[in-house]
Amino acid sequence: MRHRDLGRTGLRPSVLGFGAMRLPVVTTPAAAGMGAVERIDEAAADEMLLRALELGVTYIDTAYGYHDGQSETWLGRALRDAARLLYGDRRDPAAALHAEVAVATKLPVWKCESPADFDRLFAEQLERLQRPSVDVYLLHSLRRETWEQVRDMGILSWAERQLAAGRIGHFGFSFHDRYEVFTDILAASDLWDLCQIQLNYMDVDYQAGLRGLRAAAARGLGVVIMEPIRGGQLAKNPPAVSDLWATAPVLRSPAEWALQWVWDQPEVSVVLSGMSTLQQVEENAGFAARSGPRALSREELTLIARVRDAYRALTTVPCTDCGYCQPCPQGVAIPQILEAVNDVRMFDDLEGQRESYTWLEEERRADRCTACGECLERCPQGIDIPTWMARADAMLAPQGE
Ligand code: SF4
Ligand code: SF4
Repeated sequence: MRHRDLGRTGLRPSVLGFGAMRLPVVTTPAAAGMGAVERIDEAAADEMLLRALELGVTYIDTAYGYHDGQSETWLGRALRDAARLLYGDRRDPAAALHAEVAVATKLPVWKCESPADFDRLFAEQLERLQRPSVDVYLLHSLRRETWEQVRDMGILSWAERQLAAGRIGHFGFSFHDRYEVFTDILAASDLWDLCQIQLNYMDVDYQAGLRGLRAAAARGLGVVIMEPIRGGQLAKNPPAVSDLWATAPVLRSPAEWALQWVWDQPEVSVVLSGMSTLQQVEENAGFAARSGPRALSREELTLIARVRDAYRALTTVPCTDCGYCQPCPQGVAIPQILEAVNDVRMFDDLEGQRESYTWLEEERRADRCTACGECLERCPQGIDIPTWMARADAMLAPQGE
């Protein structure tokens, strides 16, 4: 396993992180008056975690909300069991594991209505994780609105107290908004030790993007990458893309190409993979062992750029995500919605996009468009946005609504 510095934290975790958000699950069928219940397949997840630790993974990422709240509870128990198996000869196996492995979790900022919620939620998380402290604590999924809300409630002074008391080892945020919001958040505090951003070879200019990666690293932050395979989309292969991969000087799976591209960026500290099978753990650890900053050749990088172009040629709407159409007076999230429309064809992923669309707040969805036309003159691509909002609603809205 290879390791990289996590910014200025002093931690040097494995370049592959274990993401505890897509664990294997078992579904209990719907019973009288009850819907189907999905719970973590703990035996399978335990086996994956243990194998990841054996293979040298030393960064584990969870969050309050993953698996409807089950992820933290599972991880707290599973790490104790793994510690007994791996360090059973030590006086305190849990402490021995803790000395080697960093656990990161996240505050669900959208659940915070008053400063008292910071303490309440954090205490609940420590109890789930069976720990008196957490190595890394992130504000989860910041967007401008959620950031301003928790900032105004005093989250930074709260975090400062937890850091001073040793209940948080390192503090940061995960992010899902535009680059300009990212730089505003970066500049808002010197408390940030790290951030977690989405990055893959398709999303170089999306959200924080490559510019955000470099801006964060330049400020000394560790950068943890999520969605390196774009939720599994880049592991699939439309024919135009698989023909290109077949010309590569080195044969790799599409998933490995995606991961190696992220590890090729020297500013990246850890790449999270939300693994769901033991095989993925084994494969990804093997990919990580072959990774390195600036390890891809010019020829390989050119090939990845051609794959990106091949995907983009499948674009339905010519939206460049420039954001000039924002804000919409109705609050419609135009660029995100058009991206989802494009992804349906690009990745042959209607079901996946419909599911992602349910995560978009109802007041930002396409059906809120009143066809006022304000955005039309602001769009440099001349996109007929109101018409596309109507099409997107028909395509993506939860079925049966
Ligand atoms: S046409 Fe629709 S999307 Fe465009 S500004 Fe008006 S309400 Fe917003
Ligand atoms: S202005 Fe046009 S191109 Fe830019 S984000 Fe909006 S819809 Fe896309």
